[in-house]
Amino acid sequence: MEKEVIKIVLEMLEEMHPDPKCELIYGSPFQLLIATVLAAQATDRKVNEVTKELFKLYKCPEDFLELTEADLADKIKSINFYKTKAKNIMDICRVLVIKYKGQVPESREELVKLKGVGRKTANVVLSNAFDIPAIAVDTHVHRVANKIGLVETEDVLKTELELERLIPEEQWSKAHNYLVLHGRYVCNAKKPKCSQCKLASICRSHI
Ligand code: SF4
Repeated sequence: MEKEVIKIVLEMLEEMHPDPKCELIYGSPFQLLIATVLAAQATDRKVNEVTKELFKLYKCPEDFLELTEADLADKIKSINFYKTKAKNIMDICRVLVIKYKGQVPESREELVKLKGVGRKTANVVLSNAFDIPAIAVDTHVHRVANKIGLVETEDVLKTELELERLIPEEQWSKAHNYLVLHGRYVCNAKKPKCSQCKLASICRSHI
């Protein structure tokens, strides 16, 4: 896809989603990391409901380590895969305290070494908490980028690398949030609202 077309796509997405922000609620890079781990295969709304109470009492890795894994599992039990997530979060907190003085590392290489943290989660944390350009490819970003025709691949990593090639680096983080919001609220997987979509004139999947 031509860079001129990318520019137009980004402008149209901006018109539809003028305030492109991560919808997870957090007060620190650590809280965003935990919220993002919890958000795997769960909605941001559900995660925000749970973390609203959780983060009032447990703000940093040291606080979480006062809990047992079973205590934490109980507190997050309304979220999918809560047992595995509780185990991973306790492990993450131990590593953060032992290896990083309780701070979240600002590098993808280090982040993906943490339990339950993949490339997508690392990119969400880097771009939103540290303002480091990154495109986190979740199910929405992957689907919408393919539907519009920005990329043509079933491989999530290829989608990330192709989007990074096409989009100017200073717009990566914004572009990620545009595509997430567009997938959530307009280009829904089951029922895309093409009649309300400004991209309809150039989208190859327009119905
Ligand atoms: S025109 Fe339809 S398929 Fe294309 S991006 Fe918009 S909502 Fe999605």
